[in-house]
Amino acid sequence: MSQSRVWHPFTQHALEPAIPEIVRTEGAYLHRADGTRVLDAISSWWVVTHGHRHPRIVKAIETTAASLDQIIFAGFTHEPAERLAEALVNLAPPGLDWVFYSDSGSTSVEVALKMALGYFRNIGAPRSRIVVMEHGYHGDTIGTMSVGARGVFNAAYEPLLFEVDTIPFPAAGREQETLDRFEAVSRDQRAAALIVEPLVLGAGGMLMYPARVLAELKKIADASGTLLIADEVMTGWGRTGTLFACEQANISPDILCTSKGLTGGTIPLAATLATDAIFQAHYSTDRKRTFFHSSSYTANPIACAAALANVEIWNDEPVAERITALGALQAAGLRRFSDNPFFTDTRATGTIAALDLRAASPGYLAEIGPKLRAFFLDQGLLVRPLGNVLYLLPPYCITGDELDRLYDTIEEAGERFG
Ligand code: PLP
Repeated sequence: MSQSRVWHPFTQHALEPAIPEIVRTEGAYLHRADGTRVLDAISSWWVVTHGHRHPRIVKAIETTAASLDQIIFAGFTHEPAERLAEALVNLAPPGLDWVFYSDSGSTSVEVALKMALGYFRNIGAPRSRIVVMEHGYHGDTIGTMSVGARGVFNAAYEPLLFEVDTIPFPAAGREQETLDRFEAVSRDQRAAALIVEPLVLGAGGMLMYPARVLAELKKIADASGTLLIADEVMTGWGRTGTLFACEQANISPDILCTSKGLTGGTIPLAATLATDAIFQAHYSTDRKRTFFHSSSYTANPIACAAALANVEIWNDEPVAERITALGALQAAGLRRFSDNPFFTDTRATGTIAALDLRAASPGYLAEIGPKLRAFFLDQGLLVRPLGNVLYLLPPYCITGDELDRLYDTIEEAGERFG
């Protein structure tokens, strides 16, 4: 190949001169141009749920592309979008009655933030603050960086980020502190919304907290009229053991963001689900109360058809059973590390497992991260540690043998780098 002109995301090109080319994907594998294959232990940035190129989703994409491409979604509609909205409302926690489409996890969160502020403005009681959880991550646009943890990812853009109120991450033993802080910041009724990643904070280090804390946060939010935005971009579609993580707390958020696994990880699509109260606040003959948001590819019919096929797979195939079995395998794999001196903080929620390598300097930019990644890739494994945090977030078709191979290699990595 001639010299590449591609600028890759989250990539320091000076340190990664050779970027492997993938020519085919199938099931749990990426096939490289050199004829070797790589086991995708992180579902290609957490998007692939059933496995790469599930035949039913591929077929839906092909069939739809034969009759529909993109259609302007202001003033027009189409069957895949209508059917998908109906399906999402039926699958999501009760009370989320309206579906607004966009095209990435970040845009689904931007939409959620704008809905929250628009709601309060339109009901004549404007609120201006967003409450966020320490270590949160919601995307890389200016708005989503503003509500995410500040650090190396966004230090250069700090002048453009808006101020937020932060509540501590509810680490074991600190749960009450989290709840008290939220109670305090929401008391003056300036907070439009609390945004959280339910049960698992992904990019922040696969940090996990109990469902009961989420349930308590919702109670406090309700008491002060603060909206709860559940960013289920990563946690949705079975990752935490249930379709949506919120189900485990038995709560309905006011706004729910979904993307990544929405199309089974095939093509980009996102949806922000909202309550009828939020929709009604924007429903008016006064044009100023319109929800002013769009992107050119809103509700792409081919993407909606892919998502509908994903929903059908959830309805017709034993996906829940697969997830339960995968969760048990992950828990068993992690048990191997309970006495391993090179690792600490083993943890799992549903299909997600994580553990920390005892490293001299933890943190996202720790030198150990790229070294570990290269070590795994040399062995045909796609594992992308968050600094010294190793995690497995595989597609649901991964087998017990493949997971064993991953855990064996993690053990080796501990001996070599720990
Ligand atoms: N929210 C969460 C919880 C995420 O994990 C991510 C991506 O990892 C996003 C939002 C942003 O999604 P996208 O990368 O599709 O913009």
